[in-house]
Amino acid sequence: MVKVVIAGGGTAGWMAACGLSTRLANLLDITLLESDAIGTVGVGEATIPPMRNFHRIMGIDEQEFMRETQATFKLGIEFNNWGDIGDSYIHSFGEIGQRSWMAEFHEFWMEAQAQGFGGSLEDYCLELKAAKAGKFATHLDDTRLNFAFHLDATRYAKYLRQKSEKAGVRRVEGLIKEIQKDDQSGDITALLLDSGELIEGDLFIDCTGFRSLLLGDALGVELDDWSHWLFSDSAIAVQTMSTEEPVPYTRATAHASGWQWRIPLQSRVGNGIVYSSRFMSDDEAKQTLLNNITGELITEPRQLKYRTGSRQKSWQNNCVALGLSSGFIEPLESTSIHLVMTAIIRLIRLFPFGASKQALADRFNQETRTEIETVRDFVILHYKQTNRTDSEFWNAYRTMDIPDTLAHRLEIFKNNAYVWPDDVALFRVDSWVQVMMGQGLMPANYHSAGKLTPTQSLQQSMTKIKSSIEQTVQKLPTHQQFIDHYCPAPQED
Ligand SMILES: Cc1cc2nc3c(=O)[nH]c(=O)nc-3n(C[C@H](O)[C@H](O)[C@H](O)COP(=O)(O)OP(=O)(O)OC[C@H]3O[C@@H](n4cnc5c(N)ncnc54)[C@H](O)[C@@H]3O)c2cc1C
Repeated sequence: MVKVVIAGGGTAGWMAACGLSTRLANLLDITLLESDAIGTVGVGEATIPPMRNFHRIMGIDEQEFMRETQATFKLGIEFNNWGDIGDSYIHSFGEIGQRSWMAEFHEFWMEAQAQGFGGSLEDYCLELKAAKAGKFATHLDDTRLNFAFHLDATRYAKYLRQKSEKAGVRRVEGLIKEIQKDDQSGDITALLLDSGELIEGDLFIDCTGFRSLLLGDALGVELDDWSHWLFSDSAIAVQTMSTEEPVPYTRATAHASGWQWRIPLQSRVGNGIVYSSRFMSDDEAKQTLLNNITGELITEPRQLKYRTGSRQKSWQNNCVALGLSSGFIEPLESTSIHLVMTAIIRLIRLFPFGASKQALADRFNQETRTEIETVRDFVILHYKQTNRTDSEFWNAYRTMDIPDTLAHRLEIFKNNAYVWPDDVALFRVDSWVQVMMGQGLMPANYHSAGKLTPTQSLQQSMTKIKSSIEQTVQKLPTHQQFIDHYCPAPQED
């Protein structure tokens, strides 16, 4: 049996424990160690739709998971004040209209606009319209909605812990005091705890959060710092009581220097502000956050400091880093838990059972890097594509240089409306379109496929899509009604 040691019991640690123990079961002997004295980052409550696949792989029952984590449904993110003050758009998880093999739907829609019909692009996306109407169901007849969750991070780790321990994972409580390595190979051989216990292993999974104790400290893998593209280095989080029924989307509201999240759970709301200490003081950030929330505070505002970037490798020697220890991009598009999840699936597929491990590690590192660079570009887009001139913060973002990969994408869209899926199939064409157009980037030209269709047929087919969405939204229950029926959280004890 391969001895796997997971260092850290935050969301990443317990997701890894659950994934490995349920899928590789008898092949592995898994120990997870965590320190109550240090605790977890405790945020990370908004997710994206592929999480449902991960849950399927782990055999997690969706309704049970939602009850246990006080979860609500998420159909997208509402961005306020990003393109300009007063602007608002939703980046939804849905598809917009119907594409053809030749051109995307937004290009047909642009042709319709040129001919004087078509209405708003938003009208062609079911998930977006449902989100705006506060409606939700997992499906209605044959129509399935694409959705994710808002969840309580602490409860989620607890829930995964129960599942993992049931599947045979041994949990050890203690503080890592020393990381022992083999002199020749440089591999980690054991973790020495403050209790004196020595935990030996074949493969070590670093889930120690921003500390990156194994990969960063012990193995010396540096962080590629991306703070010249994403300036934020601080966040303050606070929980409040709910004052209204939960909406089925996350809110991301931009301020003069930074932005604020609002994540509604079943009985409380997660709030926080993300900012850069270069442009806003901690006191100012706290005040801005508190001035813009509703509901009684449940927790004291809690500050977090971080560095944005990616470790140069996530797998070095016999150590694989998952979660914050491997890298971090601010939570604007709720992607961190997703990156943990895809890394676990990647590790399961590339698991080093044989003697020759380097090629597996190389592949793992390459895929992991492409994925986080995709997230980086997508998040930068929100800051770069702005017309805001009201602060130094926005001026710095608006005028900064961006990665070539993103510059190329923006150039083609701006001139030709052409969009392609990213290399890791993370953000679909519709995601790029919704954010680029949502932030005011209207292409100068578009594919002429729409001109091949007679006006009347184009108009008819667009009206058909629009009215079918309207009818479906009308029939959907409210988000709250659906939760009450599908996954009501147990009463607090
Ligand atoms: C402000 C903010 C908002 C976020 N929002 C989102 C979001 O909406 N969606 C999303 O997907 N992600 C979000 N994230 C990211 C998300 O929180 C993390 O990806 C996720 O929680 C995983 O964290 P982790 O397990 O890697 O680290 P942590 O939660 O920090 O866990 C680290 C673990 O290591 C242990 N540890 C550390 N040092 C030692 C030691 N010396 N000895 C023993 N144990 C030790 C700790 O006890 C703990 O168990 C957010 C992050 C931040 C900072």
